[in-house]
Amino acid sequence: MAELETRHGIGVSPGTASGPVVQVSPPVRPPAHEPAPADAEQATQEVRAALESVAVELESRAAAADDTAQQILKATALIARDKTLVKGAAKHLAAGKGPATAISAAVEDVAAQFEALGGYFAERVTDLRDVGSRAVAAVLGVPPPGVPPFDEPSVIIAEDLAPAETATLDRALVVGIITSAGGRTSHTAILAAQMGIPAVVQLKGATEIAPGTLVAIDGDSGEVMVDPSPAYVAAQEERRVKRESALTGLSGPGSTRDGHRVALLANIGGPEDAESAAATDVEGVGLFRTEFVFLSADKAPTVAEQTDIYRRVLEPFGERRVVVRTLDAGADKPLAFADLGPEENPALGRRGLRLSAERPELLDSQLEALAVAARETGADVRVMAPMVATAEEAAWFARRVRENGLPKSGVMIEVPAAALRAEHVLAEVEFGSLGTNDLAQYTMAADRMQGELADLLDPWQPAVLDVIAAACAGAAATGRPMGVCGEAGGDPLLALVLTGLGVSSLSMAPAKVPVVRLSLSMHSLPECQRLAAVARSARTARDALDAVREAANQEFVAIL
Ligand code: PEP
Ligand code: MG
Repeated sequence: MAELETRHGIGVSPGTASGPVVQVSPPVRPPAHEPAPADAEQATQEVRAALESVAVELESRAAAADDTAQQILKATALIARDKTLVKGAAKHLAAGKGPATAISAAVEDVAAQFEALGGYFAERVTDLRDVGSRAVAAVLGVPPPGVPPFDEPSVIIAEDLAPAETATLDRALVVGIITSAGGRTSHTAILAAQMGIPAVVQLKGATEIAPGTLVAIDGDSGEVMVDPSPAYVAAQEERRVKRESALTGLSGPGSTRDGHRVALLANIGGPEDAESAAATDVEGVGLFRTEFVFLSADKAPTVAEQTDIYRRVLEPFGERRVVVRTLDAGADKPLAFADLGPEENPALGRRGLRLSAERPELLDSQLEALAVAARETGADVRVMAPMVATAEEAAWFARRVRENGLPKSGVMIEVPAAALRAEHVLAEVEFGSLGTNDLAQYTMAADRMQGELADLLDPWQPAVLDVIAAACAGAAATGRPMGVCGEAGGDPLLALVLTGLGVSSLSMAPAKVPVVRLSLSMHSLPECQRLAAVARSARTARDALDAVREAANQEFVAIL
């Protein structure tokens, strides 16, 4: 009998599945002793053409992809078109390296610079190496790296999926995704959740699992069973069916079993996400990440261009609320047109609202466009600022929102300072929204881009829960509503804790909404409050999760 082997990674996209493993082909490397080109100038032209063909291929995939995938693919195509790579390769060719080796060397030169910069740039190294590997394959005339052809429903495994791979996976054949690297906010995680494919990241040794091996994956708990017994697969399938049937017939606004309302909202990144999210059973948008729309723009969008985009986001939601976050540029999301130059610690630098203070014309043009789009559509628009730390910043933002004729302003609570002083910060605006991704990063002093620090970034960390509790207490003192729009809001057990702490809305990838709705419907508000106390009295993140699992409604836990 096959030996059972359970491994744990981080569940980043909900659902369970099992299937044979398909390992993504590793990058194409240059041959060991590639001869020097006869004509370095001619070889430079070949390298240029290879990189251009990679850019064209990525752009054609982008044309067929949805919003977020499109932005990521376009941004990767821009890397292929960056002159630095051709110039770097030309230098190596002139020094006597062959074309494939020269591309690889040029990519590694740039990768070293990106890694030294850290943050967002370090995360782009995966994209950069993918571009390099594709260009190497192109000059060698061999098939590009990536997912090999397969025709039965399978679980895809890679060290880290390049965005070009994730964005173009065949949803009908890919039942699960596992990576050995990546983190909660990596591209794989964001795209998988959006495509509704169960996914686990940070699974050690994943790339060593032999192709064809059966694995069972749980995208909620992060558990992966290698060579599961038929009984295990059957039990998992039974759980899935029970969960599906519990979900059927449950719809509409979110509320606890005793009728306490908790709005269930969608996180979106642009007009196409808006259309697909509006077609699902959500009460509106809790976070529209406007910077996602402009990730590959090299100059600031005009008011007219922005108005058009915002209109297309607002329209599908009719009378439902849409919370729009003003540009959260900088650190992990740099925008070419909003760059203030290199910083030692970009995550602690002039990002988010701090950038708006430095470049107020960017904020004003955004608010102006939003006001026009809101008037034209009659939508319920609420605008919130990212990375607010103080009451003065909140007041400054609220004034600008009012001056632009928009009715409601709010702030993201993602800096511990703002959480601890929420009473004063929220007094300046109409609402707050906890950005638990950054709040965990800043509370635990752990870079959210470093997959290796995943344990510290876990929102179940009792210290993070204490900071959230302080923010909710501050909000309660002002009577202003506090929501959650970080990844924590989409965790069905943590959602109960957050409700118990006092949050009144949860915003997440639309695929996560149904299970959270079910979770709420099976617990009363006093039960949620008890679960919050249980979680906060735990010593570690693991203990907090285990204790809540144990104290929650076991009928719900059984189908999780
Ligand atoms: C957060 O920090 O939790 C958040 C929602 O914002 P982002 O992930 O876009 O930084
Ligand atoms: Mg944030």
